[in-house]
Amino acid sequence: MTTIIDGKAIAADVRAKIAQAVSTMQSQHNVQPALAVVLVGDDPASHVYVRNKGIATEKAGMKSIEHRLPVGAAEDDVVSLVRELNADDTVDGILVQLPLPEHISSSRVINEIDPDKDVDGLTEVNAGRLILGKEGLVPCTPQGSVIMAKTVRPNLSGLHAVVVGRSILVGKPLSMLLLAENCTVTMAHSRTADLPAVCREADILCAAVGIPRLVKGDWVKKGAIIIDVGINRIEEQGKTRLVGDVDFDAAKENASAITPVPGGVGPMTIACLLRNTVIAAARRRGLGAVDV
Ligand code: NAD
Repeated sequence: MTTIIDGKAIAADVRAKIAQAVSTMQSQHNVQPALAVVLVGDDPASHVYVRNKGIATEKAGMKSIEHRLPVGAAEDDVVSLVRELNADDTVDGILVQLPLPEHISSSRVINEIDPDKDVDGLTEVNAGRLILGKEGLVPCTPQGSVIMAKTVRPNLSGLHAVVVGRSILVGKPLSMLLLAENCTVTMAHSRTADLPAVCREADILCAAVGIPRLVKGDWVKKGAIIIDVGINRIEEQGKTRLVGDVDFDAAKENASAITPVPGGVGPMTIACLLRNTVIAAARRRGLGAVDV
């Protein structure tokens, strides 16, 4: 029997723990963690994401702050806002919604964020901490992917993990997290020779590419755990569907466990954003470790 790893249920568990931790922070320390989101421009998808993040933040008992700047805002204005939020002691987490308009350097803006408030884990400082194995804030989607894998196999030590995709947002940090779990990690990408053969070696196969159903059923070793990060919108039989980077129906014949799309890694991303916000609040305010 193949386990379908239920991202919605796991995310609900994570959110419940977060709400509990927030409630304890409030009752014991009179602290309400706050997440500030900066949105520049009027990209409709970004507006939806920001609204959903705001709702989730408030549902967890935290304070949600939104700053909206017009599409023509100058890079320096965005940087000034980030600096204000860095200096504001009531703000625990700062997230700049990407993509930014083309005239603004995302790299400059992101790296202005105080690394201890960088709840997306995208600053160079947090990337460095992850590589060095130091305490930091870890990007949300890779974090969610590892939490999901550990629900079916709590100890990943010694397993061969293959991560397909080497982006800064997903592939690279996910590889680092799996290494920290003592996996033997292979990073595969668009120039990998014989990708199917590399995938067939994987005990844990993670796909973060952005190509619908790239990973075929016969690329999957018997008993492998599959984490499908891809979210691809396709037209099929006259309908728009969301599919992953893995051919789910074929791959699940060989896998011992697999994440579906939708309902897999997706719901974990916002849950891990909330998790990072609580962790950032506890660390910044010297409240000790939180159980989330
Ligand atoms: P990206 O475009 O930045 O990176 C894609 C990576 O795939 C690159 O490193 C590239 O080397 C590799 N690649 C491209 N073609 C390949 C091929 N033919 N064979 C092997 N590797 C190939 O994408 P990203 O930001 O890492 O996102 C990847 C996917 O994950 C997308 O579908 C995206 O929508 C999805 N995603 C989902 C979440 C979530 O919340 N679940 C979050 C972020 C990204």
